[in-house]
Amino acid sequence: MEVIYAEFSLEGGGNMDKEKTFECSDDDFMIRGHDKQEIMNLARMHLKDKHGMEASDEMLEAKIRES
Ligand SMILES: [Zn+2]
Repeated sequence: MEVIYAEFSLEGGGNMDKEKTFECSDDDFMIRGHDKQEIMNLARMHLKDKHGMEASDEMLEAKIRES
């Protein structure tokens, strides 16, 4: 299981929401963090790099869970 931690910048006005998790359905890849936008960026890169998939915002949001 590969876990990436999405850091958010306190100075950048990152929101302090609950921790969120993105899990790739095709391999053991997971992103955890509080900044939804950053998680979406990392998830989009992963899907493109590893699976050649162009993910829409809707697709990514559907896979992000609040823990
Ligand atoms: Zn994957």
